[in-house]
Amino acid sequence: MHALLEQGKTILHRLQAAGHEAFFVGGAVRDHLLNRPIVDVDITTSASVEAVAALFEKTVLTGARYGTVTVLLDKQPFEVTSYRTDGNYVDFRRPDHVQFTRSLTEDLKRRDFTINQLVMDAHNKIHDHHNGLDDLQKQCIRAIGKPSARFEEDALRMLRAFRFVAKLGFTIEPITLKAITDAAPLMHHIAIERVQDELVRIFNADYARDALKVMISSKFAKAFFNLEEGLKSLAKAKAPFDDELAFALLQRHHDTLGELFKFSQRRLNNFANISHLAAMTETTLFSPLTIFNEGLETCLKANHLNQMLGFESQEDHLLQCAKRLPIRHARELAFRGDDVLKHLKPIRKRWVGLIVKGLVEAVVNRHVENEYEALKTYAIHLKTNLEKSDNT
Ligand code: ATP
Ligand code: MG
Repeated sequence: MHALLEQGKTILHRLQAAGHEAFFVGGAVRDHLLNRPIVDVDITTSASVEAVAALFEKTVLTGARYGTVTVLLDKQPFEVTSYRTDGNYVDFRRPDHVQFTRSLTEDLKRRDFTINQLVMDAHNKIHDHHNGLDDLQKQCIRAIGKPSARFEEDALRMLRAFRFVAKLGFTIEPITLKAITDAAPLMHHIAIERVQDELVRIFNADYARDALKVMISSKFAKAFFNLEEGLKSLAKAKAPFDDELAFALLQRHHDTLGELFKFSQRRLNNFANISHLAAMTETTLFSPLTIFNEGLETCLKANHLNQMLGFESQEDHLLQCAKRLPIRHARELAFRGDDVLKHLKPIRKRWVGLIVKGLVEAVVNRHVENEYEALKTYAIHLKTNLEKSDNT
C-alpha cells in the first residue's frame, strides 16, 4: 500500500469513529489499482465541512463553498470533500451552487469518469457504483451518466478526458468520444487558465502524442482555439517533448499564442526564442556566436524542437562547440568594457557596448586572440570604424 494512503487512513478512521462515512476517491484509488505513483489523495465523506474542521488539528478551508477542507498530517495535505451533488451548471463550467448530501451514491454520480468514481475504504475494500473496475480493466475512459449532458455541464471535462488518455494511455469509449466531438465548441467558455493547466499536464504526460491524435481524429482540435495546425504538428512529433517544447512548437504555427494564453511575458519570450532559434538552425549548423549569445541550454532545446520536426540532431556539435568556446561571458574578455572606457578616450558612452559586442564576436569566432594587446588594437579599429560611419 502506498505510504500516502496508509497515512490517509488516519483521517478515514477518525471520521468513522465520529460516526461519519469516509473513503478515498478519485485519482489516488485509480492509480493505486493501476500500480501507478500517487501524488495526492482525495477523501470523500458524509461529514460536513464544519465537522471535518473540528476533528483535525490542522485544516485549511480551501474550498469550503464546495465542501472541501484540506487536512494537514505532518505537513502532508489531504483534500477532504463533503458528499455533494452539483446544482445547475452555469457558464459550462461551475455549478451555481452545490447541495450537500448524506449519500455516497449521489456524490459519485457527479464525478466525471467511471475510473474516477472508485472509492476505497479503510480496509482496502473497493466500492464501485458505475462499473469503473471493468473500465479500468478495459483501459477505457467513459463518462458517468449521459456523456453529452456531462460535457454540456462542464466543458473542461473534455480536456480532462484527453488528459487521462495522455497520462494512462487509455482510450475514450466511443459514445463518450462522440459527445466530445459534438460539445467541442463549448471549450471556448472555459477560462483560458484552466485550459492552459490541462494542456501543460497533457504535454508532460507519457502518452501525450496519443492524446493529441485523438484530439485531432475526433475533430475536437478543429474547434480548439484555432490551434489545430500546431496540435497536428505536435501529434506527429518525432521525438518526445515537455510542455515548454510543445508550446514553442505551437508558437511556430500560431504567432498569436501570447494573446491567447496567460503565461508570464518571460515564459512567452522563452517559447518564441526557442521557436525562432530552431527555425534558423533546421539545416544550418549552430554557430559558436549563437551558442555564446543564447546559451547552451536554449540551443539544446531548439535542437530538440528540430528533432521533433524530423531534422537531424546537432547535439554532439553543440556540446563540443560549447566546450571549445574561448569565453563564456563578456567579463572573461582580456580587454573589457572598463578598459574601453579608460584607454579609448574620448569615447561616446553608447559606443562602449558596441565595441564590447565586436570584441566578443571576434574572440568567439576566433578572429582575434583573447589577449590584452590584440584586443586593444582591435578595439581601436572598431572605434575608428564607428567614427567613420558616424561621419557619413
Ligand atoms: P490526477 O491524478 O491527475 O490528480 P484525479 O482524478 O485525482 O487525477 P483531480 O482533478 O484531482 O483528478 O480530481 C479528483 C476527483 O474529483 C476526480 O477523480 C473526479 O472524481 C472528481 N472531479 C474532478 N474534476 C471534475 C470535473 N470537472 N467533473 C467531475 N468530476 C470531477
Ligand atoms: Mg487528484
